[in-house]
Formats: sequence, C-alpha cells, structure tokens
Amino acid sequence: MEEQKVFLPEKEIPRQWYNIQADLPNPLQPPLNPATGQPIGPEDLAKIFPMNLIEQEVSTERWINIPEEVLDKLLIYRPTPLHRARRLEEYLGTPARIYYKNESVSPAGSHKPNTAIAQAYYNKTFGIKRLCTETGAGQWGSALSLGCAMFGLECKVFMVRVSFNQKPYRRMMMNTWGAECVPSPSNETSFGRKMLEQDPECSGSLGIAISEAIEEAVTRDDARYSLGSVLNHVMLHQTIIGLEAQRQMEALGEYPDVVVGCVGGGSNFAGISFPFVRDKIYGKDCQVLAVEPTACPTLTRGPFSYDFGDTAATTPLLPMFTLGHDFMPKPIHAGGLRYHGMSPLVSQLLTDNLIEARAYGQLQSYEAGVIFSRTEGLICAPETNHAVAAVIEEARKAKEEGQQKTILFNLSGHGMLDLSGYDSYLNGELVDYVLPEEEIQRTVEVLKSYPKPKAGR
Ligand SMILES: *Cc1c(COP(=O)(O)O)cnc(C)c1O
Repeated sequence: MEEQKVFLPEKEIPRQWYNIQADLPNPLQPPLNPATGQPIGPEDLAKIFPMNLIEQEVSTERWINIPEEVLDKLLIYRPTPLHRARRLEEYLGTPARIYYKNESVSPAGSHKPNTAIAQAYYNKTFGIKRLCTETGAGQWGSALSLGCAMFGLECKVFMVRVSFNQKPYRRMMMNTWGAECVPSPSNETSFGRKMLEQDPECSGSLGIAISEAIEEAVTRDDARYSLGSVLNHVMLHQTIIGLEAQRQMEALGEYPDVVVGCVGGGSNFAGISFPFVRDKIYGKDCQVLAVEPTACPTLTRGPFSYDFGDTAATTPLLPMFTLGHDFMPKPIHAGGLRYHGMSPLVSQLLTDNLIEARAYGQLQSYEAGVIFSRTEGLICAPETNHAVAAVIEEARKAKEEGQQKTILFNLSGHGMLDLSGYDSYLNGELVDYVLPEEEIQRTVEVLKSYPKPKAGR
C-alpha cells in the first residue's frame, strides 16, 4: 500500500526558520519614510513593533533559531501532516500525484498561529504586556488571541464591524482565549470616533481597523501592534511549513514539480514555497504558483510601486504589487484575500521571475472546494479554495498531456466557520467579480507621484 500521509516525528521539527533575504538574487528595496522619501531606520518602527521583531524584519541571516519556548507551543499541533490526495487524483483521472500540507489542524484552524505564537513570545520577552491588532473575518484576531493566551499577554482586537455583526463565532473564540474584541470603527480611538461622526452606520474596513489598532498600541509604552501577514518577519515564521514539507516529501522520495499557495498578504504562500524557491535560486527546476482572486488581482494586474500598507496612510511606504491603499474590494467570501497590497518579498520574487501568479473567480474556487470536500472530505477555507482550483487545473493539464507530475499545495485552513459562503454557492447565489480595467488605470494614475522601486513593471 502506498503511503497516504506522512507525520514528521516531533523530534524532527525544524529548529530554525529560513530567511529568504539571504538568497535573493536582487536584494529587497527598503521601506521609505513618506515625508522624506528616505529609507526608514529601525527606530522609526520602535513605537509600533518590539525591537527584537524589527531586527528579524531587516535581518539577512539565512537561518534564524526558533526559540525553545516557541517550539514548545508549536508542538501542540506541529509538525502538521502531509497528505496525498489520492481520491482527488482518482476523481480527476490524472497521472499527477497531488500532496497537501494540512495547516487546518492548528487550534485556530489555519496557518496563522505559526506567526501569532512567535510574535507573542518576542513581545513578551521584550517586556510588552498588551498586543493590539485588527481582523477582518476573524482568522488573524483569533490566532493572535491564542498566541497571547499562551504567553499571558493582553490582546485587543479591532474587528471590521460588518464581520463583527455577521460572523460572531470567531469573536467568541477570541473571548474564550481571553481577548477583548470590539467592532471597528469604535468609540475607543480618535480615528474611530471621527469615522463614526462622519457616518454612525459605518460598516468599517480593514484599513480603518488597522489605523485604530496602531493608534491604541502607540498610546501605551507597554503595548505594541501586531500584523498577521505582509511583513518579512511574518513570512519568516511561516517557513516552518515548507521546511517540514521538504522533509516529508523527501521521506516519500518525492520532490514537487509545482508548489501552489493562495495569496492574500502572501504569508501562507511564502511559508510553503520559500524553501523550494531557495532550491530554485540554486538551479533546481520547480514551478511556484501564487493564486489570487480575480476580484483582488494584486499580483496579476497591479503595478509594482511603493504604497502605504493601510487606508489611513500611517505606515511607511513599502515596495510591492498593489491595487492602491484606498482600494475597496468587492465582498467576496475569501475575506483573507482582499488585501490591496502584497508582501514585498513575494513581490520581489515575482519581478525576478522566480514565481508565477494566476487569478481565479470565486465560482471556480468554490467548485474546486466542493470537489475537494467530496473526494478528500475536508472542507477548505474559501481562501484555500483558490489554491485548490489551480491544483485541479494543473492536474487536468497533466492528464491531457499524459505527463507524470508531482503537485504540492498548502491547505492554509479549514472552512468550518465560513460555511455561509458554501451555502450561497450551493444555492446558486454567488457571482464572479473581475476587477474592471478602469480601476487598474485609476490606481496607476494615483501611484504616479509615488516613488518607484527598481525593476518595476
Ligand atoms: C488569512 C488567510 C489567508 C491569506 O493570508 P496570507 O497571508 O496570504 O496567507 C489564506 N488562507 C487562510 C485560511 C487564511 O486564514
């Protein structure tokens, strides 16, 4: 009988994270101070993040030790299993072998605790007592609540109001883990009050929630802000996914021809793919595919430019593919993929042609997710379904071409708290959104006056 899944023994859990900054053919371009246009220094971020995480953000060390205290908490659910999707292969009649790394087994149900636990630890050792953050549908807020509970930190989450009202279950998870969760805009910050004065019914946005969380974090010396994606240190913490997957594939005598992940801010994709991108930089042949929604096509259609990370334009300027910091995505169910920007590391790899990007509509993504659930059983998060759609397309292509191919994808989370999207799909109520070309042109126009990173397209 062929193996269906590989459990890496606990003692073989990776003890270091992989920092791709050490191997980039073209180094990352620095974040800029919007007022001066000059690169920012570590001290510019010191009120927002603890210095030990800022050091990781700018580090070019290839391997960074995972502290024992972090490993101890990660071992609650790591190493995560690598599965062979044999029933999906049979259903598709493909000669391709399909593998997936199952990050849905974490207590919060996604890959996000991999960085939440690490960030809580570094803040704790720096003497921080309280973390503030924002959350859309609640995946990141619940992951950080878990991380803070593990290290005895207070946690305050600003949750986009429309989700706060429509999706109470993740708020309940946050409360159970001891965090405070308020709808944003709130009365608790001056930016929130300003928004509510303008519009008492304001349903909120991720950009507003970020601005509130930063404002609250900088008002206290022993509080900091925490971000669940986009930044270099977040990509770093997620590489444990790909490092485990490499060992698990090796145990099967396999190496992937294609590595696939969905991209919102880029962290779960970075996690599964960066160790393989490293092999590729040193000559290995491997296709690396980032998958995004057609409603928010940052990598496939956005310009490569400096832009702000948040709507209120409070962050430094980051070099990234972006749809503009005031971009308002259509309400697709994959809330985690609706961010306007993209990790600068992932963006740099795309300009250097080390990775490829592709976009799918939500109908095709849910169709893929339903096929996956009826063959492999697991109900994926709507974000993850985008990766599944690409995997199915690749597997069908392998069938047409009569080619043996090994595909690996990251199953970034389960969909047990996002079932209403499946309900809408099954009732025929979902529609596809394709971002109109005028929107892209508008973004290009707005970003014209912003600094341009080198090698931008
Ligand atoms: C948040 C989330 C994503 C998107 O975020 P990335 O930083 O791009 O990984 C994808 N899948 C799941 C399940 C998520 O919770």
